[in-house]
Amino acid sequence: MKIAIIGAGFTGLAAAYRLTRAGHDVQVFEKDSLPGGLAVGYQEPGWEWTLEKHYHHWFTNDTFVLRLAEEIGHPVIIRTPISSFLVNGVSYRFDSPQAMLAFPKLPLFDKIRMAVVFALLFRLNPFWKVLERFSMTATVPHLIGEKAFTMLWKPQLVNKMGKHAEKISLVWFWARIKKRTTSLAYPEGGFLSFAQALTTRIEKQGGVVRYNTEVTRLTDDKAVRLTIRQGDKVETAEFNRVIVTLPSFLFVKIASNLPGPYRQSLVRLEGLSATNLVLRLRKPFLADGTYWMSVCEPDAPVMAIIEHTNFMDKRHYHNEHLVYLGNYAFTDALDWNKQNLLALYDPFLRKINRDYKKSLIGYELFKAPFAQPIVPRNYSKLMPSMVTPLPHVFLANIEQVYPWDRGTNYAVELGEKVAKIVQKL
Ligand SMILES: Cc1cc2nc3c(=O)[nH]c(=O)nc-3n(C[C@H](O)[C@H](O)[C@H](O)COP(=O)(O)OP(=O)(O)OC[C@H]3O[C@@H](n4cnc5c(N)ncnc54)[C@H](O)[C@@H]3O)c2cc1C
Repeated sequence: MKIAIIGAGFTGLAAAYRLTRAGHDVQVFEKDSLPGGLAVGYQEPGWEWTLEKHYHHWFTNDTFVLRLAEEIGHPVIIRTPISSFLVNGVSYRFDSPQAMLAFPKLPLFDKIRMAVVFALLFRLNPFWKVLERFSMTATVPHLIGEKAFTMLWKPQLVNKMGKHAEKISLVWFWARIKKRTTSLAYPEGGFLSFAQALTTRIEKQGGVVRYNTEVTRLTDDKAVRLTIRQGDKVETAEFNRVIVTLPSFLFVKIASNLPGPYRQSLVRLEGLSATNLVLRLRKPFLADGTYWMSVCEPDAPVMAIIEHTNFMDKRHYHNEHLVYLGNYAFTDALDWNKQNLLALYDPFLRKINRDYKKSLIGYELFKAPFAQPIVPRNYSKLMPSMVTPLPHVFLANIEQVYPWDRGTNYAVELGEKVAKIVQKL
């Protein structure tokens, strides 16, 4: 079969890998100049490895992506970095039950209660379906106590989800607690290097990956016709099957003949954009060695501080210390430039590390317009299916990752699943 895949993120690459292995004639169209999608990397002069534009790691139970890395022979590094919570300006370790019990800002009873609820309802409970009827904000305070919720989880939720916080499903929280592993994994060389290794395998198996190539229109009749733009050149091409890996709002834009009710079901799905300001420093920012710092402070301008080089060795980046300042709900940030965003963050950053600017080498701002689906109650009824009303067109995108939270592991799972479906129908 002649199959087109729109998007060379991990969903598209995993599908292309499986379909070329099965002997199909596959072309991948990617509007960016590199593979990897949301996990794409970049490289400053002198760096040996690339760095993701948006912080990325794997959990050690991310079996789909880890198995794929093993299959193509890409080395994976496993480390146990420090995770902390920033509460009232102080950093507390929060990466094990022992660390949670040692947290001094809550009474012992509240900590034991939280540990028991997390263990029984989240870590050990596989029955997520019964949880999806509840929202996180209406349930979690009753389960773990108002104080623990207000001090630790509410600020994180609100800082991430903004105006959507009240509608977030309990399943989303369940997934985040259940999936977490204390050890984390990372592909040697960075996620871009892994995506490029996968691309090389796809090409060896006869597939074609075309960069800087945007699909602008898709129509489905006896076969699917794509309008493809590369620079000033516009062409059309026909395929037996097409896999779309774009977020639904972009699928709706290019597929002009989608039936009304189906189109409506996609349009109502909501999502958040993300921004990451990446600082390059001569000295560590989080001097206690924390890799991941969740900011538990209402109205903090930054949602999380992630010091990548407290996870991966700085020697891969010319001995620079690399720090992400991550944000989702602050959508206006998409219109900001890196100078005024750093100016906005600066008073907050100086409270954590007064002298960080003295060792600043440079900084970059990266933006992702669709980065995090909003998962309200009963999301299983809203989630789009892979089989679309267009008979030869299949959708495999970030909004179909459920009950888990989005990630490259699930992108690989989706890509593998859609490859099977496409071959059957
Ligand atoms: C801030 C942030 C942090 C994250 N942290 C992690 C993490 O720690 N670990 C983890 O595993 N995952 C993480 N993720 C999630 C992970 O990056 C995504 O779930 C995954 O990459 C989604 O892959 P995808 O292929 O489904 O979609 P995408 O990566 O969005 O791929 C879609 C591709 O389609 C291309 N495209 C769009 N329109 C067109 C068009 N018209 N024509 C051709 N091409 C087009 C895009 O350029 C893109 O390359 C994070 C994401 C963000 C934003």
